[in-house]
This record gives sequence, C-alpha cells and structure tokens, in this order.
Amino acid sequence: MHRIYNFSPGPAILPESVLEEAAQGVREIHGSGMSVLEVSHRGKQYDGIHAGARETLLRVLGLSADEYTVLFVQGGASLQFALLPMNFLADGRTANYVNAGEWGSKAIKEAKKVGKGEAIEIATSADKNFSYIPKGYAPTPGAAYLHVTTNNTIEGTELYDLPETGGVPLVTDASSDFMALNRDHSKFSLLYAGAQKNAGPAGVTIVVARKAFLETALGGLPSMLAYKTYVDSDSLYNTPPVFAIYVVGLVAKWVEAQGGLVAIEKANREKAAVLYSAIDELSDVFYGTVTAKEDRSLMNVTFRLQPKYAELEKEFVAEAAKRGLDGLKGHRSVGGFRASIYNAFPLAGTQALAAFMREFAAAKG
Ligand SMILES: *Cc1c(COP(=O)(O)O)cnc(C)c1O
Repeated sequence: MHRIYNFSPGPAILPESVLEEAAQGVREIHGSGMSVLEVSHRGKQYDGIHAGARETLLRVLGLSADEYTVLFVQGGASLQFALLPMNFLADGRTANYVNAGEWGSKAIKEAKKVGKGEAIEIATSADKNFSYIPKGYAPTPGAAYLHVTTNNTIEGTELYDLPETGGVPLVTDASSDFMALNRDHSKFSLLYAGAQKNAGPAGVTIVVARKAFLETALGGLPSMLAYKTYVDSDSLYNTPPVFAIYVVGLVAKWVEAQGGLVAIEKANREKAAVLYSAIDELSDVFYGTVTAKEDRSLMNVTFRLQPKYAELEKEFVAEAAKRGLDGLKGHRSVGGFRASIYNAFPLAGTQALAAFMREFAAAKG
C-alpha cells in the first residue's frame, strides 16, 4: 500500500491495520458470505459489531457501563450543537458556553437559536483570535450544563485542565481529541465527537454520556432529535451508519492494542514535541500561532511564516506536498499551516516535516 504523510484535519489518517481489516470486512465479514456493507442492521453479524464497538469505547475511556452509555448519531458534531440545547436547555434555565474557537462559536449560535432557555457565553478568547484557552471562569450556579471544546481543531489549542464546575454537568465537543488524551472522562456528563477526526470515517457521531444526565432530557422532541430515542433503542431506532460504526469499533480496538489512552497520550506528546521544538528553534522563519504555549494542541499544530517570509506560504505547502507531506494548509481564518497529527499519525511523519522545515529555513532564512 502506497502511503503518504497525511496531515489532513478531517477526514483524517486512520491506522493502516484498521484499513486492511476494514477492506477485508468490505469483502466478507466474519465468514458470513456477505460484505459488512450488505448485512442487516438487525442481524446477528451486525449485533456483535454494534455492541462490541460500544463496549470497547467505554473500556478505552475508562467508564463503567453501569453509569455511562454510548450513542451513535448521524448529522456530525454540527447536529450535536443543536441537539444538546434542544434536549437540555429548558425554559427558564441557563446553559454556559466557553467560546475558544470557531466550533465553539457555532455551538453557541445553535444554542441561542434552538434552546428554550438562555445560552450564555461565560468566557471567550475571541479577543486574541482564539490563540489561547480561556481560564478562571465560574459557571452559573444551577446551570443546565457547561459546554467546552476540549480541542480547537482550527486554532490549535487544547483544554488540558478541565474546569471546576461546582456540580454543573460538563459537556464537551471532543471531535478532534476523542481517545487522544488520558483524561478522567468521568468528569464529563456528556461528550460528543464526529468520528472523522480521530475515530473512524465520516458518517457517525459518537455520544458518550452519563445515563443519569440523559434521564433529565426534555420530552416533546421529534424522535430523531431526542437522545431518549437513541438510549431506548440502543441507537437502533432506524438504520445506523453500519460501516462507520464498524470502523469506529476497529479503531477503538486498535487504541486498546496500543496500550490504551496512557500509551496513546505518550505517543501524541512525543509527536507534537517534535513539531513544536522545530517551530521554536526556527523562530527566525516560523512562529506558532498559539500565544499561550501551555495551551498548544497535541492534535493540530498551527504555525506560520514570520511576516517577512509571508509570501512563501504557498511555496512551503507545495514543496512539502512534493515530499509526501500532504494537507498542511492552515484553515483560512488562521492562515499559515496546520499539521494535524491525530492518533494514527506516525512519529516518522512529524520528523519528516521537522526536517523539511529545517531545510526550508536554512534555504530562505
Ligand atoms: C470538525 C469539527 C466539528 C464539525 O464536525 P462535523 O462532524 O463536520 O459536523 C465540530 N467541532 C469540532 C471541534 C471539530 O473539529
């Protein structure tokens, strides 16, 4: 298999062994004489895939199946921006939002649109183009939930120390750091992640939530927009995205085989350090866009050329691509470059990029 170093922000790189196994599954699943694409979502082949993925995910996250459940929803993380307030932001109540990036801004926008209660932004880093993680805020006592984004995919910041909430349920959009850090996941009442960044193909959103929190969801919603429907049917109310869930299960098993989140976080720290060291060392030519270094993401490394070299941005991306370093163009709102180095991204790829940066700096600087 010909593989380049794929720095794409999502859909993104997946483990090679998972791709091989999924390719086999597309041909024939578990000796059934059928492709995984052909089996009934109510048949026994799929039963094991569905239940197995949910169990493995909880195990990887260190959560008990007594207290937590896994739901598979479609519509991406973007639909969760609306489902969360529809299900939990009742009339007369408030929900708190920390706005640390473009995705967080979209979450608040949806909550203001569809929540029956009031969605309040209690902290933001918009003043400095989201180049740091807001800190030192306190949620409104009795709030329905506090929503954060643990990894800001576009801006390249990561929330390492989860906030004290004083009993307010903590909710995160973990789309780009799902299964990437060895966090205490029991601090979350609900977390959601579009699979396509770190957990599988596009098409399924993983929702992991405390059962007790889900029981407080509001009624009267269309079936497909009510978390209760997914809970009561084990996410089999209608046809789930069978293939995406199958691959998510394979990725979760792969994470386990790597040594779980302890080993994954260690590897992620090592990979990120290679790039941040290069950025800092080559500061005549490059700079990191995250102003608070302690907030630098392990998943999305954002950097730019110093202003005097700014016109070389396109050349850098094109030259990198020629060396098999693909997908480095930064998001238009931040500019410059973004190296997305999710769980499956190899250390050697970060070393190859750092070597190219040194070469580029030596030639231009
Ligand atoms: C990619 C991303 C989204 C959007 O996800 P979709 O599944 O495309 O809706 C939302 N939040 C974060 C943090 C993301 O990285």
